[in-house]
Amino acid sequence: MVPDTHLHTPLCRHAEGEPAAFKAAARGQGIPAIAFTDHLPNPDGYDLPHRMTMAEWPKYRELVLAQQTPEAPRVLLGAECDYYEGCDASLRPRLAGLQLDLLLGSVHHIGRWGFDSPEERHVWNSADVAGVWREYFSLLGKLADLRLADVVGHLDLPKKFGHRPPDRVVKEMAQPVLDRIAASGMAIEINSAGLRKPVAEIYPAGFLLALAGEREIPICFGSDAHRPEEVGYCFDQSLELARQAGYREAVSFAGRRRTAYPLPERAMSKKT
Ligand code: ZN
Ligand code: FE
Ligand code: FE
Ligand code: ZN
Repeated sequence: MVPDTHLHTPLCRHAEGEPAAFKAAARGQGIPAIAFTDHLPNPDGYDLPHRMTMAEWPKYRELVLAQQTPEAPRVLLGAECDYYEGCDASLRPRLAGLQLDLLLGSVHHIGRWGFDSPEERHVWNSADVAGVWREYFSLLGKLADLRLADVVGHLDLPKKFGHRPPDRVVKEMAQPVLDRIAASGMAIEINSAGLRKPVAEIYPAGFLLALAGEREIPICFGSDAHRPEEVGYCFDQSLELARQAGYREAVSFAGRRRTAYPLPERAMSKKT
């Protein structure tokens, strides 16, 4: 099994299960390392309903560090930060003090619209779908250019509820952004949470992952678990997607430095 570098905790107000239960779930599957990457709070109060407060950060840190025992798996302290206009002003100066093992960077909002939020899903009904995707990729490009995070979270998140332009159009939009991600030195994650959403597909789609592979953008694996049962969710499918895109290795993180490891061999498949 491979590290799961995208887990949440109940401190974000939309997850359940104690960190110990997430760890036990990982141990049960032979996952060698997990990273808690809860939604990072911002001093300007950005998206407060979906994350811990600034005052809760020390408690989060303590909860995660308490799981760093000799018992497997290895537990990493991470966070998932949001890209929005001006986010770097507060993030850059406090990043060193957070002492993270890894930082995911995600785009969950276009302007004030939380386009992946179930409560705001109805906005899609009257949206210009291609226009939304174009705007999304423009924000993702800016996230890459900041060079603040280590990993791009769920690369094609706008597909969550099934709204997307044809692959050809997405490819056109994504290519220049993938160039900027490659230039930034960031990795991308293969995030299996999409399988649990209406789109029923891993983030990113195979054709986008192949484009990332061409650019030698490193990959890591995340379940985006918001409950212990979701740890390592469908990682067999994530691994297969990575292999099909031509990947032979993936990366994990510690102290915001990444190390590569070879992808495990395909399990012997049953003869059909
Ligand atoms: Zn969340
Ligand atoms: Fe996210
Ligand atoms: Fe997440
Ligand atoms: Zn996420």
